[in-house]
Amino acid sequence: MSTVIDVGGIKVSALNDGEVHLPPMYYPGLDFAACPELLQADGTYHIPVGCFLIQARGLTVLVDAGLGPSSIPFPGDIAAAAGLTDPPESIAAGGLLPGALAAAGVAPADITTVFLTHLHADHIGWVAPGGVLFFPNAVVMCAAVEWETQPVAPAPGELEGRTGLAAARATGVLRPIDAATAELAPGISAHHSPGHTPGHYVISVASEGETAYLLGDVVHHPLQLNDEGISFLSETEPERALRAREELLTTLQGSSVSIGMTHFPGLDFQRIATANGREWTTAG
Ligand SMILES: [Zn+2]
Repeated sequence: MSTVIDVGGIKVSALNDGEVHLPPMYYPGLDFAACPELLQADGTYHIPVGCFLIQARGLTVLVDAGLGPSSIPFPGDIAAAAGLTDPPESIAAGGLLPGALAAAGVAPADITTVFLTHLHADHIGWVAPGGVLFFPNAVVMCAAVEWETQPVAPAPGELEGRTGLAAARATGVLRPIDAATAELAPGISAHHSPGHTPGHYVISVASEGETAYLLGDVVHHPLQLNDEGISFLSETEPERALRAREELLTTLQGSSVSIGMTHFPGLDFQRIATANGREWTTAG
């Protein structure tokens, strides 16, 4: 297991900003009764809030900006709808990213680009918490279309992140993109992969014959590798999300490409082996 890999001359690290506690209803099509080990004693599935650090010569890119310095109390209506008698204190808690960056030897001022795969609350929190830019020297890139799209299932805490983004926009650091593929730097590209949201992008990193992909929320649960019936509650267009997911998984399966997933427990890089049907294997 590794949360840090070298892709040729480029270092890619998975960092965790916190934890989200989701009731089963957030995963339509996933039969939790058949795999009760996925659920904690509080009745929810716990996932990390992943971000990825890409360090190349003269360039430090942060892919996704976590939930931010907030802990969101578990809403009573969601607990009631999910039938949770003893729900966790929070549905989502962030706050770990600054410490994770420091542990990686990176200061907020070192970040040159923040790339947002999409604008859900758990991907934008550290852009400008409280309206103050957290990465003072970074440009912030995301799909232009994401601005016009409101979340279909707004998460608690959605407003704070959006307010921070608006503040970032007002300072002029935002760089909206709309191309099918956009090059962030030599070897680092963003690829439009819509469905989870209309402007969702995945990132590829290639150097010296090696490649990694950061899939954002295109794949939300490991079991989606072999079950096309599992989706995620907040997907704008589940059918389109499924097509994007299958296209990417099919491209990546059986290859030596290392893959990072934002919300897989452990956040370690993986590959997709095909010797016995599709299965996740450790990268590196
Ligand atoms: Zn997410």
